[in-house]
Amino acid sequence: MTTPTWVRLAELGASVLFILALKGLSSPKSARRGNLLGAAGATIATAVAFFYGQEFFGGPIRHLPLILIAIVIGSVIGWIAARRVQMTQMPQMVALFNGVGGGAAAVVSTIEFLSAGNDESVAALAATVFTVVVGSVSFAGSILTFMKLQELMTSRPVVIPLGRYITSLAGVATIGAAAMLIINPTQSLLYVLLLLSLSMGVLLVLPVGGADVPIVISLLNAFTGLSVAASGYVLGNVLLIVAGTLVGASGTLLTRMMAQAMGRPLTNTLFGAFTAKATAAAGPAEDRPVKSASPEDVAIMLAYARKVIIVPGYGLAVAQAQNTIRELVELLGAKGIEVDYAIHPVAGRMPGHMNVLLAEANVPYDQLKEMDEINPEFPATDVALVVGANDVVNPAARDDKTAPIYGMPILNVDQAQQVVFLKRSMRPGFAGIENEVLFDPKTSLLFGDAKESLTKVVSALKGL
Ligand code: NDP
Repeated sequence: MTTPTWVRLAELGASVLFILALKGLSSPKSARRGNLLGAAGATIATAVAFFYGQEFFGGPIRHLPLILIAIVIGSVIGWIAARRVQMTQMPQMVALFNGVGGGAAAVVSTIEFLSAGNDESVAALAATVFTVVVGSVSFAGSILTFMKLQELMTSRPVVIPLGRYITSLAGVATIGAAAMLIINPTQSLLYVLLLLSLSMGVLLVLPVGGADVPIVISLLNAFTGLSVAASGYVLGNVLLIVAGTLVGASGTLLTRMMAQAMGRPLTNTLFGAFTAKATAAAGPAEDRPVKSASPEDVAIMLAYARKVIIVPGYGLAVAQAQNTIRELVELLGAKGIEVDYAIHPVAGRMPGHMNVLLAEANVPYDQLKEMDEINPEFPATDVALVVGANDVVNPAARDDKTAPIYGMPILNVDQAQQVVFLKRSMRPGFAGIENEVLFDPKTSLLFGDAKESLTKVVSALKGL
């Protein structure tokens, strides 16, 4: 039966909406609209698949009540999760949803394989096997990433003995099983392949830790896109091919850009832990003196500065201090002090986290400076005010070859005349390593929740 024109038109409309959504998402100003366009495309795509599949259109959908129950359960879980999730938990939510996408593509292809048996052409079989492998890798890897970010397990690299060889062996076995399945499609081999692919997902993500986790989320996202596109080929569904290709292509580009921002090749992200020496444990922080400051001290330092650079990080998001920092910057601006925000590409816990957070507080875009633009300005800066950031200003990334963040470009706050850190304790950041700038004689630490500290600094400034 040929596909009716209304289905083709609706699919075309949804594809256009997906493309416009990506375009919208490329700038913070149009991101909200882009998101809505994407959601509209996805709604149209789901509705078309659902209605066209019904019997009155001659479609093959059976088990209607079960499908409806699944739609209701999925929608309710998605709705509640999206409403409850904190901005800081967004990456693990993305990882989880991404894993579910990859898993769904693998399940669909597995069912297709089991129902089609030996009847499929080699090309169709190859697409099915590809989806099973890539979808399962993406599923297992994403669930592990979720567990790392949710701190259900350590977020540091986990290196198993002989891990490099075990992973290589599992990789070769997966490719071998996939090839054999295309030549000789049997059910038992399919289950072996599923198991091998799931193990590959785990083995690939286990040694990734610290600062590399965001890159892996993006890579797995690209994998899911590719597996969805291949499942579109298996099912003869053009829309899945378009949507999957868009996700695969944009995920690949994002992965490349993030790896570049971290200053390391992707292979280093995935296999770095196998070759790196064990990371030096953080030194005995409590034995080394640090200079602490009161809110009044910080207010005076800022009031007498000519140029201040604010470095926001994950702690700003945790403390929800974005409005208070804007208030502080406005106060300084009114005193004629030049203030900029320095935005590191992986500050926070998701790409663009600081941009989103500060946009929420109506901070003008022109005050946000990218890393390459702001770094030359640090030597001429009187005060670098680091609000809840750590890894992104850690010189170990420049100097310590054994550090897990080695090679990542950082914001050079250590070159400013004075540095002030707002944090609650001497605990390290996400990568779990000591930051030497905290012990520098020109550094002062204002301990406490960033929002409370900033509120006190603001009122001290007003009294000056
Ligand atoms: P870090 O995790 O390095 O440091 C956060 C700092 O904030 C800590 O020093 C912490 O110290 C402090 N902090 C936490 N809560 C508060 C609070 N309520 N008030 C004041 N301070 C607080 O963050 P960065 O932004 O510097 O670096 C991001 C890290 O996360 C990088 O390693 C990056 O690779 C990784 N990552 C990034 C993702 C992304 O896409 N952007 C995704 C996943 C990981 P204390 O506990 O003492 O308060």
